[in-house]
Amino acid sequence: MDCLFCAIIKGDIPSKKVYEDGDCYAFLDINPQAPVHFLVVPKAHIGSADEITEDNAAAVARIFAAIPKIAAQLGLTNGYRVITNVGEDGCQSVKHLHFHVLGGRKLPESMA
Ligand code: 5GP
Ligand code: ZN
Repeated sequence: MDCLFCAIIKGDIPSKKVYEDGDCYAFLDINPQAPVHFLVVPKAHIGSADEITEDNAAAVARIFAAIPKIAAQLGLTNGYRVITNVGEDGCQSVKHLHFHVLGGRKLPESMA
């Protein structure tokens, strides 16, 4: 399968890693939308949040357990935003589930 984030996880494409454990991988977004902008992905390929099931939800729970640790490590002491885009209407461009974590400044109130 030709998947950009699977290639990043494997190390075939370089990335600026900020966290890794057995289930998830986190790296800086190449086109940051805030002073701090990283992506957290499950190592096992899941297409999007629309493909989360009882069988793969543990990986998602691990991601959400990792996010506070990474946020603290990157100095996000005053809050942050977690976003996942899904499908066409959600403007998802990479079809491997990823959570954007944005912070380092006051973010716009509007989410859409
Ligand atoms: P989406 O639009 O699918 O929610 O988000 C995809 C994100 O992946 C975008 O914010 C984009 O900047 C980031 N991205 C795309 N290609 C690469 C890459 O090769 N390396 C890194 N680090 N981020 C990427
Ligand atoms: Zn993938």
